[in-house]
Amino acid sequence: MKFFDFHADTIGECFLQNKRLLENDLHIDLRRAGCFSDYGQIFAIWIPDEKRSDEAFSYYRSVRARFFTEMRENASQVAFCQTPQDIEAAFAQGKIAALLSVEGGAVLGGQLERLDDLYRDGVRLMTLTWNGSNEIGHGCFAEDKSGLTAFGKSVVEKMQRLGMLVDVSHLNERGFYDVAAYTDRPFLASHSNAKIIDNPFATARNLTKEQIGVLIDRKGLIGVNLCMDFLGNGDDTGMDAVLRQIVYFLDLGARENLSFGCDFDGCTVHPDLAGISRIPSLFDYLLQHGISEAVLRDIFFANGKRFLVANLQKL
Ligand SMILES: [Zn+2]
Repeated sequence: MKFFDFHADTIGECFLQNKRLLENDLHIDLRRAGCFSDYGQIFAIWIPDEKRSDEAFSYYRSVRARFFTEMRENASQVAFCQTPQDIEAAFAQGKIAALLSVEGGAVLGGQLERLDDLYRDGVRLMTLTWNGSNEIGHGCFAEDKSGLTAFGKSVVEKMQRLGMLVDVSHLNERGFYDVAAYTDRPFLASHSNAKIIDNPFATARNLTKEQIGVLIDRKGLIGVNLCMDFLGNGDDTGMDAVLRQIVYFLDLGARENLSFGCDFDGCTVHPDLAGISRIPSLFDYLLQHGISEAVLRDIFFANGKRFLVANLQKL
């Protein structure tokens, strides 16, 4: 089967726990990726909210170095991709297509030029905030409920010019609507669920029906998140909870907008969803519970690939 995923923290965990991408006990490794014929993965470098300014950038550089070491050492299996052509070439050669993202605009330290550094490094997606505030705007758990800053507005504009995907996962609601106002090109919520779950995490972090409507109207993308807290409560956080999310999104008309942002190695997941080797079982479960194979193929792969091809081009 084919699979495209828009968010995983695996490379950061490889760095922090000194594990290898080829084989590890995390949620993702290259050996287990053998269960897919075509597999695209966006690897995020997560910037913790407490790292600010130069410290944030130097942390980014450390994890980045680890990412490129892994790409080099595993070049026979995985190809680092920056363009739609790179992605096509990777699949044609039977390799995993790996893209690089940064989760947390604190990496810029308030300097617009750093976006050029990120772009040169091959970063093609940036999640504007994590849970707290930074120079760009405010995350969904921040006390400040205001929208994007003036700097944030210039960041979003420049990202879209460069062909760098603007990611609103974690961003607060006013920030989300500012992104919608300040952008012409589609944007995405790389790892966000719908606000249909009653717990404090899901209430703050998941997308409202209105936000989902905006993403659909703008030809955006939404990656379904497998994190327990954003799927349900107690035991109700497994495959049935994923089905509930997908059915809700599809009912709102998001068939062409849905993908996955599993959040592997960035959160706690139900044992039934613990790692990429569980993805084929999830596909089968959803198929057995009324989602057609054509729709599933779009959600698991085609929508994500189409979104990247359309939006990675420079203007
Ligand atoms: Zn996240």
